[in-house]
Amino acid sequence: MVISGKELSARLKAEMAEQVKSFPAKYGRVPHLVVILVGEDPASVSYVTGKAKASAEVGIRNTTIRKPESISEAELLEIIAGLNADPEVDGILVQLPLPKHIDEDKVIAAIDKSKDVDGFHPLNVAALWQKQPCTLPCTPKGIIKMLKAAGVEITGKRAVVIGRSNIVGLPVSKLLLDENATVTMAHSRTRNLAEVTRGAEILVVAIGRPKFVTADMVSEGTVVIDVGVNRDPETGKLCGDVDFAAIEPKASVITPVPGGVGPMTICCLMENTIECFLKRH
Ligand code: NAP
Repeated sequence: MVISGKELSARLKAEMAEQVKSFPAKYGRVPHLVVILVGEDPASVSYVTGKAKASAEVGIRNTTIRKPESISEAELLEIIAGLNADPEVDGILVQLPLPKHIDEDKVIAAIDKSKDVDGFHPLNVAALWQKQPCTLPCTPKGIIKMLKAAGVEITGKRAVVIGRSNIVGLPVSKLLLDENATVTMAHSRTRNLAEVTRGAEILVVAIGRPKFVTADMVSEGTVVIDVGVNRDPETGKLCGDVDFAAIEPKASVITPVPGGVGPMTICCLMENTIECFLKRH
C-alpha cells in the first residue's frame, strides 16, 4: 500500500478549515502564523510558499516576513521579540537554514515557547523527552499520523530510524518509542547498516541521500517511511532516500516522494498553529 500524504493531508486540512470557520464567532479572529524567511534559497522559498498556500486552504492568516541575507542576528532577534509580544500572533516560524553569521540555536530559543509551531524550542524538546505536553515537531508528528492512518500497529514492532537529526531522526525515534515500538537509531557510523535495516518491521529513513536504501536492505512486508527530499542525479526529478521502484513491491506500506511525508509536515504545521491559538484562548 502506498500512503498518499497528499490525500491524507488534504482530508485533514479540510477538517481544520471547518474548525477554523467557527473561530471568528467564538474568539473574534482566526489563528495567525508568521513565517520569517531570510535570504532567497530556492528550497526555502518553495517551503515558505507551501506554508502560505496551506494556511490559505485552512483559513489561517499567514504573514511572511522576507529579509535579505545580510540581516544581522540582532535585527532578527528584535523582530522575534516584537512577534512574541504581539497578542495577534499565534505561531512564529523561522525558515531554516539561516545564513552562517546567524546562530540558529539562539534564534530558535528566542521564540516564545507558546508560539513555537515548529516544536524546535529547547523547552518543547525537553517536554517531548519528558513526556509532558508540548508542541510536537511537524515531520515526526506527520509520520506517526501516516502510520496510524494506514492502520499500522506500532506497539511491539522493531522500528529502525536512519538519521539522528534534531528535526527528524531524534524526535521520530522518541515518538515511535512512545508508541511502544522497539527502536534502533542508525546513522553514518552504524556498522552493517543493511543487516540492521533488514531487521526492521518499520523503517524510517531521514538522511538526505537519493535512493540510498536499496531493495536488499529491506525485508519482505516492511513498512517504509521515506523522509528524504533529494534531486535524482540521473533524472533531475525529486526523489527520496529510498529506491521506491525497487522497494515498493517488497514493502507492505510505503510513502512516495513527492506526495508523502512532505505534505504531512505542512499539515501538522497548520495543526500546531491551531493548537497554539487555542491554548492562548
Ligand atoms: P541531516 O540533519 O543532514 O541528518 C542526516 C542524518 O543522516 C545524520 O544523522 C547522518 O548521520 C545520517 N546519515 C548521513 N549519511 C548516512 C549514511 N550513509 N548512512 C547512515 N546514515 C547517514 O538531515 P535531516 O535534516 O534530518 O534531513 C534528512 C532528509 O530529510 C533530507 O533529505 C531533508 O531534505 C529531508 N527532510 C524532509 C522533510 C519533509 O517534510 N519531507 C522534513 C525535514 C527533512 P550522522 O549523524 O552520523 O552524521
